[in-house]
Amino acid sequence: MRKPFVAGNWKMNKTVDQASVLVQELLPGLQAVPEVEKVLCPPFTSLMVLSAQLAETGVGLGAQNLHWEASGAYTGEVSPSMVKEFCNYVIIGHSERRAYFAETDETVNKKLKAALAAGLTPIVCIGESLEEYEAGQTSEVVKRQVLQGFKEIDNAIASQIVVAYEPIWAIGTGKAATSEGANAVHRDFIRPVLASLFGSAIAQSIRILYGGSVTAANAAEYFKTSDIDGALVGGASLKPDFLKIVEAARP
Ligand code: PEP
Repeated sequence: MRKPFVAGNWKMNKTVDQASVLVQELLPGLQAVPEVEKVLCPPFTSLMVLSAQLAETGVGLGAQNLHWEASGAYTGEVSPSMVKEFCNYVIIGHSERRAYFAETDETVNKKLKAALAAGLTPIVCIGESLEEYEAGQTSEVVKRQVLQGFKEIDNAIASQIVVAYEPIWAIGTGKAATSEGANAVHRDFIRPVLASLFGSAIAQSIRILYGGSVTAANAAEYFKTSDIDGALVGGASLKPDFLKIVEAARP
């Protein structure tokens, strides 16, 4: 019922030429899996060129961030309508943005509203730190992030949101969460909070991805579970391995 969704977060990697070469390498394999919604999220600088390269291919393009204001004196920022010129998706509230650029649940909420208003599909990242995980606070943290980040979102558009549960201790560390552990967070903590906000039918329709050291070797384990609907992939999205992850998500 929920279409599997796999996104690659390229982070601050690849010049325009390098990005274009990687897309050329990945494209035939990505197009061979129409059952999975696929999105590539390169740096802003590559969006224009990749939007032409990916046009009509069935492979989506996303930005890694946006500002909530429409325009103005915000040096270095990019507005929702500027993102929308090239993309249909945007990552919001990645833990690296929360850690290094002072993003909070409040700014996530502003960005989420602005992205939805611009007609973008937001991929909203949540997840606990190692310290919080070890203190048994996962449930409390993800509930707070969803309740505050998703405040005042209309039921009519809520099902367009994609959630990415990314425990910070699993990102780029090679210490992936177990599939049972991540699925339990999705099923027992995140989806029930979404249901409390939007009702159970909408909560059931929202894709919840797992992210954190997903590789070609472990991806299939996640996709076998009841409530992991895809993956947000960092490191492995820069390699041909990404295709194996997308293939593993095939229902
Ligand atoms: C990410 O940054 O969203 C991520 C999941 O990274 P990695 O796959 O490298 O852990």
